[in-house]
Amino acid sequence: MPLPADLHVHTEWSWDAPHGSMERSCERALEIGLPAIAFTEHADWALVHEGQHPVDIDGYLDAVERCRAKYPALRILTGVELGEPHWFPEETAAVLAAGPLDQVHGAIHSIRIDGGMLDASQFRSRPDLDFPAAVREYFREALAMVEAGQPFETLAHIDYPKRYWREGEPAYDEHDYEAEIRAVLRAAAGTGRVLEVNTTRGDTLCPDIRVVRWWRELGGQAVQYGSDAHQPDKVAEGFRLATQMVEAAGFKPARDPVSVWRR
Ligand SMILES: [Zn+2]
Ligand SMILES: [Zn+2]
Repeated sequence: MPLPADLHVHTEWSWDAPHGSMERSCERALEIGLPAIAFTEHADWALVHEGQHPVDIDGYLDAVERCRAKYPALRILTGVELGEPHWFPEETAAVLAAGPLDQVHGAIHSIRIDGGMLDASQFRSRPDLDFPAAVREYFREALAMVEAGQPFETLAHIDYPKRYWREGEPAYDEHDYEAEIRAVLRAAAGTGRVLEVNTTRGDTLCPDIRVVRWWRELGGQAVQYGSDAHQPDKVAEGFRLATQMVEAAGFKPARDPVSVWRR
């Protein structure tokens, strides 16, 4: 079976991808026979990390055009990964107005806490934090984003905090957060969203099979894949395992390898 398109890749146009390269990611995609690649750069306005800034969308779109001219054999899709778009409706509207975007992901990275914002990658460095409560708050924020009516189609890495699990906590188990996760899935299915299976560059499936099964059970129609690569050699990493998992959960590949997988 051919690999599906990698619809979640970062390049030098994302603030947190110092080793990113749009050109070399295109070359890598051609080398491994990917049908298409989408560059979904960070559009983050919640400034929780040093140096964080949203994508320069005009410069980025020019770079995509140059790559399309240079690699005509590859389908190159445009996109953004909106961080907490419901907190920043005006900024979100401005970035989406800049040009036609093929892939618009909605993502939660941060929660609001103690009058500030905290990225889930920072949870483990805060010993004072009630960790399970912070994870619950993460899912509550994901639900708020899905329900807020912002124009994104794909729900990215639904259980992102599991990438940064704090040592000493009981291992991540979807059942511990089942009610919260199901609420997010139900809202996403009800608004026609696509669930992303994010392979975390081959490290961690976000989400794993249990959640994809719940997605199907709750009426979710479609699944797509993203590696979340921040450098070229990670493009489509983990896709073999991910496609087997999604197939076992009851979704099937489309004839067009660029399309989402459906029930
Ligand atoms: Zn993300
Ligand atoms: Zn990402």
